[in-house]
Amino acid sequence: MALDEKEFKRKMDEVKKKLQEGVIVPEKLTRKDRIKFRCYPGIGCFTKCCSGIRINLSPYDIFRLKNRLGMSYTDFLMEYTVPRSIDGTPLPIAVLKLKEDEIKSCPFVTPEGCTVYTDRPVTCRYYPIGMAIMKHYEGQEGEDFFIRIKEDHCLGHNESKEWTIDEWRADQESDLYDKMNKDWMEVILKAKTLGIVEFKQKSLDLFFMVSSNLDMFRDFVFNSNFLDSYDLDPDLIEKIKEDELELLKFSLKWLRFTMFGEGDIKVKDDAKLKAKERQFEAAKARIRAMEERDKEFLSKTHENIFKEADKEE
Ligand code: SF4
Ligand code: SF4
Repeated sequence: MALDEKEFKRKMDEVKKKLQEGVIVPEKLTRKDRIKFRCYPGIGCFTKCCSGIRINLSPYDIFRLKNRLGMSYTDFLMEYTVPRSIDGTPLPIAVLKLKEDEIKSCPFVTPEGCTVYTDRPVTCRYYPIGMAIMKHYEGQEGEDFFIRIKEDHCLGHNESKEWTIDEWRADQESDLYDKMNKDWMEVILKAKTLGIVEFKQKSLDLFFMVSSNLDMFRDFVFNSNFLDSYDLDPDLIEKIKEDELELLKFSLKWLRFTMFGEGDIKVKDDAKLKAKERQFEAAKARIRAMEERDKEFLSKTHENIFKEADKEE
């Protein structure tokens, strides 16, 4: 068993800092542990947590929000997001663009509350319970635990309503979001573990496309040689053509496969052969370029030698 040591240490430093500041309650909670919390319109701190925050948008967040607002993916991204990298990785992600007001408010907050409440992002659903995963990298199983975030401005902790962590997460639909984003979260976790690995620009572009713009991914699948390359069940192809949610689920499985070779997606034999041929041609082209460079270098050297010899004469 090996832990993601670098990431774990970084997180622990963050947690220690927040512990010192009294923001994180020093306890490791399981799904059955109980907390007291309630949040409702009319509480003294209502919407105080909706400004000055960073909200990374997951693929399922964007799917829900852009449908809620009746927008295309591209329009949603242009109007409501800015590109950033996920902490501890070079992976690009869409982050909610805050307003330019003094307190950097969320674009969806009003004095009456959240205007997209039933489709709010998963970050808002987690609060005030953060989830951490201790991953056992030789196997596929992870061990979840939870931490309570207790900020001074949040009065919900003083309420008497009691929940188990599971009950709270079910009420907030956090489990549904985690289920939808599972393959995507696995890619991020793995990228954080491999921190030192440099991703090719093409992988980063694919990651951003799949994470944030399903319209582009659809175009990529149905208007390129994508379907000639993968051995996909015809029923699945029909489903992803007709149903956007099925396309989203497939896109995240494919992302995991294409970035780390994980999962049960299969490349067609002739596509494998063509890929090998392309690799072979690329290698030959690299060797030819090296030979050209060597030739050029040697010929310049000879010219210089002759020039110098001429001068001496
Ligand atoms: S999306 Fe809604 S809940 Fe989340 S920060 Fe914005 S206003 Fe608050
Ligand atoms: S600060 Fe806490 S209690 Fe107040 S609105 Fe936000 S989550 Fe609810």
